[in-house]
Amino acid sequence: MVKPMEGLIEEIRSAYATIGIRVELPVTYGTYYQLACGRCAAFLGVVGDKLLPGQIRTILSEQLDLYTAGLLGCPCGYQKEQVKAVDPGQFLSAAVPDH
Ligand SMILES: [Zn+2]
Repeated sequence: MVKPMEGLIEEIRSAYATIGIRVELPVTYGTYYQLACGRCAAFLGVVGDKLLPGQIRTILSEQLDLYTAGLLGCPCGYQKEQVKAVDPGQFLSAAVPDH
């Protein structure tokens, strides 16, 4: 049996990897994970693991425009570059294993 939390953090990790963000080690008892720029490793915040399956991609897909506009992400511009290559529909559909 796969532990739900491990599956979920892998899902979060892969969703963030798509837009050029690394999910690092947990900061508070496995509840929050640090986010770091995939290129320069700058600290970009934290993400909680109390999400529902599929939710992280929904959240991130709503933020894609903000990353494109440079309002979110690292000042080095790495996420902006990565997000340009992301197809929002495809990004979102990768979210839902079997609904
Ligand atoms: Zn950066």
